[in-house]
Amino acid sequence: MSNYGRMDVTFSHGRGAWLWDTEGRQYLDALSGIAVCGLGHAHPDVTAAIAAQATRLLHTSNLYRVERQEQLANRLCALSGMDRVFFCNSGAEANEAAIKIARKFGHEKGVARPAVIVTDGSFHGRTLATLSATGNAKVHAGFEPLVEGFVRVPYDDVDAVGNAASHADVVAVLVEPVEGEGGIVVPQARYLSALRKICDDRGILLMLDEVQTGMGRTGRWFAHQHQGIVPDVMTLAKGLGNGVPIGACVARGAAAEVLQPGTHGSTFGGNPLVSAAALAVLDTIERDGLVQRAATLGARMVEDFKRALAGNKAVTNVRGHGLMLGIELDRGCYDLVKLALARGLLINVTADKTVRLLPPLILSDDEARQIVERVCALINDFTAGAA
Ligand SMILES: *Cc1c(COP(=O)(O)O)cnc(C)c1O
Repeated sequence: MSNYGRMDVTFSHGRGAWLWDTEGRQYLDALSGIAVCGLGHAHPDVTAAIAAQATRLLHTSNLYRVERQEQLANRLCALSGMDRVFFCNSGAEANEAAIKIARKFGHEKGVARPAVIVTDGSFHGRTLATLSATGNAKVHAGFEPLVEGFVRVPYDDVDAVGNAASHADVVAVLVEPVEGEGGIVVPQARYLSALRKICDDRGILLMLDEVQTGMGRTGRWFAHQHQGIVPDVMTLAKGLGNGVPIGACVARGAAAEVLQPGTHGSTFGGNPLVSAAALAVLDTIERDGLVQRAATLGARMVEDFKRALAGNKAVTNVRGHGLMLGIELDRGCYDLVKLALARGLLINVTADKTVRLLPPLILSDDEARQIVERVCALINDFTAGAA
């Protein structure tokens, strides 16, 4: 179907931060399939884990215990300090699980019409509940009536959450630690810890959508760890499988006990194949110190971009959190994506004016330098009208 305005290029293979198209042209990948391939393309350890698992067992269903899934759940709980995991196949599904947990948690407290606080500019997925939670009119358009039970507040506004949370129907807050699709919007440093306190005071759930920010991307395993808090619910997907479809809804305390037999499910979720791949992803990130690498490399790239673009008045802001990087212009710049492609570089533009870079965590110093040089040249040519 035509639901994607696709670019006219077909990639045949990749290696690390590089892709080759069917014509043999080479591209530097500063997007990682939208924060999915954190270990780059064709990572040998992930490939080996998938191949080994495929020789033994792909799928048995969740009617039986799944050894690899249990190992993966234990690892995610150990890394996050949380208690239980539900596995699914995408970010939207992970958020669906979170929303169902919030509603059932509310009903168990006697709230007949439970509501979840969500924010402007957010993105939570394309299923009916998650598009309704999403704070973007373009995502809603044509799909009304929206799923009810969401209360919207501005992003990075603690008081707005505090006020909304005083309503008796509110059972949870669902936010991204950094708004990704919304334009790499990095909130004030105390945002999540302030939300944690509101949720504790009110006895409601703090649910963090870490589908894009998780898996080391921001320089911690999970972005909320920068603020020394633990959420009640956290959703993961994108970088968890490095390209195999896997999502996870991680919960702790009361939130981890809400879903009981018969209340939720997934045929494929956490099957042996995807769990083996995700375990290899965790092992590799840990062994190669890629979380710390994302922190130092991301900070350096932001500084390099700031220095290199200081003379360009059309660049209004450069920001980042680990290897989530945003360069905001004073004008719409979706054309940059095609111009970059023609120059052998994969980037993204989101929220109309923000160049979004989500490079793989395995980037070498030289590749990082090339991305900065090539993106700056592209932006300078574009704003000078020369591209
Ligand atoms: C990509 C994304 C989703 C949706 O994930 P899908 O796998 O496309 O369903 C949800 N939340 C955030 C923050 C995302 O970046």
